[in-house]
Amino acid sequence: MPVTVVGSVAYDSIQTPSGSRDRCLGGAATYFSLAASYFTQVRVIAVVGEDFGREQEAVFHARGIDTLGIERAPGKSFFWKGSYLENLNEAKTHETELNVFAEFEPKIPLSYRDTDYLFLANIDPVLQRRVREAMPNVELVAGDTMNYWIRDHRTSLLRVLRNLDILLINDTETRMLAGQNNLVVAARAVLAMGPKTLVVKHGEYGATSFRSGDSGGELRVFRAPALPLEEVVDPTGAGDSFAGGFFGYLCSQGQLTPSKFRRAMFYGSVMGSFAVERFGTERLQQLSRDEIEARFALFRELTHLD
Ligand code: AMP
Repeated sequence: MPVTVVGSVAYDSIQTPSGSRDRCLGGAATYFSLAASYFTQVRVIAVVGEDFGREQEAVFHARGIDTLGIERAPGKSFFWKGSYLENLNEAKTHETELNVFAEFEPKIPLSYRDTDYLFLANIDPVLQRRVREAMPNVELVAGDTMNYWIRDHRTSLLRVLRNLDILLINDTETRMLAGQNNLVVAARAVLAMGPKTLVVKHGEYGATSFRSGDSGGELRVFRAPALPLEEVVDPTGAGDSFAGGFFGYLCSQGQLTPSKFRRAMFYGSVMGSFAVERFGTERLQQLSRDEIEARFALFRELTHLD
């Protein structure tokens, strides 16, 4: 079952303890699409500027990703500059230039309208909401956001959260959104804002899902680990790749059962673990399904009790 994603398609300049890259292909929707493309058909809604080259577009096409919904507009593409010199688990943002995204009016191609699964990747919540409203018949909607939008665009973000099935954010964002330090208390507060399920990403420590029990009171919690890695070359896009593996797998399965949900958490961790092995999207461009399954087996071994 295809998934449609809206979010940033960008140029990133990144500095990590392993080195740096200037203006490489990035963006939340880019990482999400590449990761999800190993599980299901992906359709992208975004905007890029005149500086976006054929070489970058070819990265999407090589993975069979539908780019009909990527508009080309006069101006420059979204640009983000970040570093991980002090903390590999959290990016320090140096520059964010929305550029063509500042004036973006998302248009949904007719061929995308039958999509049942929608992912609202990190971008202005106003744009996330417009796309959500233009696709009222979707069956399952998941989304992501970041500190930038939580801090400065809270009201429009809260409107998006009301209509989300699954929200995926990291620890710091969860605490920031809820205004609570304790993760469980914060998770409860975020669930009260609308999402039926919250997936909290913990960087190198994995991810935890929280869902209210049927009677409302009790929280159902599940944790997937991350793979302990000797070297993390570039953490950029790990969260979006987690989301792509997680949601791409769910979309490929049709109906959502608790067991499929738990597997999706592991596939999310698998794709996140690949993303950080090289700079930018390099690793995600050239994986095989066999490599993905071999790593899934490693995750099994990591957690399985006889
Ligand atoms: P993450 O998975 O959190 O590491 O996401 C990294 C990606 O998010 C980078 O490729 C950036 O281009 C993109 N990004 C950074 N800031 C923003 C923002 N404010 N809105 C949308 N995308 C962003």
